[in-house]
Amino acid sequence: MTTAFFTHPACLEHDTGPGHPERRQRLEAVLLALGEPEFAALDRHEAPRATLDQIARVHERAYVEDLLARVPQRGWAALDGDTAMSPGSGEAALRAAGALVAAIDLVMGGGAANAFCAVRPPGHHAERDMAMGFCLFNNVAIGAAHAIAAHGARRVAIVDFDVHHGNGTQHIFEHDPRVFYASTHQMPLYPGTGARSEHGVGNICNAPLAAFSDGDAFRDAYEEIVLPALQRFEPEVLLISAGFDAHRADPLASLELEAEDFGWVTERLAELAATHCRGRLVSTLEGGYDLGALAESAAAHVAALMAAKA
Ligand SMILES: [Zn+2]
Repeated sequence: MTTAFFTHPACLEHDTGPGHPERRQRLEAVLLALGEPEFAALDRHEAPRATLDQIARVHERAYVEDLLARVPQRGWAALDGDTAMSPGSGEAALRAAGALVAAIDLVMGGGAANAFCAVRPPGHHAERDMAMGFCLFNNVAIGAAHAIAAHGARRVAIVDFDVHHGNGTQHIFEHDPRVFYASTHQMPLYPGTGARSEHGVGNICNAPLAAFSDGDAFRDAYEEIVLPALQRFEPEVLLISAGFDAHRADPLASLELEAEDFGWVTERLAELAATHCRGRLVSTLEGGYDLGALAESAAAHVAALMAAKA
């Protein structure tokens, strides 16, 4: 059984404007790292476009249609203070969401052990009816909803180790007991949500970390809080919002992880997937803004997926 890899050249053509940290060079750095010989066994796929119906499972249809209609012919269209679209953004957003749908289809269908989606724009801040924080469509939420609607999954877990809390993912599912959302993130930090006290309908598990927390604190949060909560939920498939901006070199936050910490958490999550999910795990790129740290951390993440025993 292989690890599948989904990306699309259109994801490079989403241009967020001069000086923006969420830039095409991020994806180029990840693609370069995963082009090394140790990743030759990846089962590589071009991401299809998600359909409007697939996206509208988690977003208001009017929001999706309006967003796509606002993609500019030239220049940029601002959506909020730090989120903008260029002429290539609509296609990039459809391919990013479509990567999750196709990866879920492949992994749920037994065609791959697990999968990593190297896509942008990222997704976990996108709310049901609002773009936010560099995110247009909530890719991981679209993947989770597809696992339920198209594959009959009854319990889907999403783990989010991006340094920012995934407010959009939490809000989309906080009343839906079929989806469990667990997050480690720096707090206080953008977007401000993610307190321990936010429980949803018993399906939300937030383990915030103070600024300057290191890999030991991160691992403790998984061992003591996140992994036990996931084991109690007994998911049938596990999705990961894989942001690498908790790395100590990242310019947007102040946690102090190393690349090996991302490898460690991926091993633990793959073990959990092997126990509860027949190994079924689909991961997608969220943040990570230091190019070297992003490339090294994503490589550690994907290497651990490839080494996972289903
Ligand atoms: Zn982030």
